[in-house]
Amino acid sequence: MSEVPGGDAPKGAASVEIKRRLATLRYVTDGPEHAHITVRPEICARCPHSFCTFVCPAQCYTRLDGKLLFRYEDCVECGACAIACDQGSVSWSFPRGPYGVRYAFG
Ligand code: SF4
Ligand code: SF4
Repeated sequence: MSEVPGGDAPKGAASVEIKRRLATLRYVTDGPEHAHITVRPEICARCPHSFCTFVCPAQCYTRLDGKLLFRYEDCVECGACAIACDQGSVSWSFPRGPYGVRYAFG
């Protein structure tokens, strides 16, 4: 795991609460050929900060042995990674209908 500046992911009770809430969501996952977010590994390999790993509430981005791992399947479509990545790696769009996350209100 590479060391990057910029803060820590939620820990303890906050992390448990986020995971509990994420578990209430439902997803209709599109195939990888239609992934609504893609990243460019050659850019991520030389990224100085990995901000995406700190801002994604669904932990879609992780660093393992220095390599960035990304999975679009758990995305809650908040858009934070597209804003946080100032390196030009993230290509972001909403999923095709009827795919993506389903929120239940009430
Ligand atoms: S997605 Fe952007 S912020 Fe995240 S590691 Fe790649 S270049 Fe860095
Ligand atoms: S849009 Fe939000 S939930 Fe989806 S990968 Fe980006 S930061 Fe994570």
